[in-house]
Amino acid sequence: MRGKRIGAIFQDPLTSLNPLFTVGEQLVETVLAHLDLDARQAHARAVELLAETGIPAPEARMGHYPHQFSGGMRQRVVIALALAAQPRLIIADEPTTALDVSIQAQIIALLKRLAREHGTAVMLITHDMGVIAETADRVAVMYAGRLAELGPVREVIHAPRHPYTVGLMGSIPRLGSTPERLVQIDGAMPRLNAIPPGCAFNPRCERRLARCTLQRPAPMPAGAGLAACWLYDEIGGREHDDAGPDAR
Ligand code: SF4
Repeated sequence: MRGKRIGAIFQDPLTSLNPLFTVGEQLVETVLAHLDLDARQAHARAVELLAETGIPAPEARMGHYPHQFSGGMRQRVVIALALAAQPRLIIADEPTTALDVSIQAQIIALLKRLAREHGTAVMLITHDMGVIAETADRVAVMYAGRLAELGPVREVIHAPRHPYTVGLMGSIPRLGSTPERLVQIDGAMPRLNAIPPGCAFNPRCERRLARCTLQRPAPMPAGAGLAACWLYDEIGGREHDDAGPDAR
């Protein structure tokens, strides 16, 4: 499953790659592990992957070690590795955070193009709203380890439903406006071993209802998506959590 059906791209390409092996060896090993090819075919496939991800002189680069690549080029190698077995899904965890801003857009554009060409779905984990707006079709907003809101990207960005998403979107500074203070969500994210009962967001929520401290809301229809928030409960009073009101 891992590698063949699901590829992964992590935040820091330098620690994703083994410093003791050439990128060619790492690519060939991955190809051989997942595809039914002999060594010569695997080498050719590895060169093809490097070329596809925009590495210049891919044949010569096969013999180079990770430290001989720049950050952006290393992340291209990691993308080539993730694609090596033609997975159906790539999980990309903050794939551009460790890179220069000028390189970030190139890597996101490359990932989008390759995913489209290969018919691969990408689950992109990021804090960067700009990247989300540019890249995603659907957005899942997480809070304290659970889904807060899920919906089409335009809807989540322009008409967020869950109070946490509303706060997140409101905290993005707008070009041209010069507020004295940036908007923020009061309070802090709970520790994962001390999540409040009921809705995890309730200590910070300005729209908190009485039941919010007692019952945890399950995701329910809100606009074109879902929001785990009692404000969208049309049935009223129904308990969504089989495990009981204090369940986390
Ligand atoms: S369930 Fe209640 S506390 Fe949680 S986000 Fe909705 S209104 Fe706020």
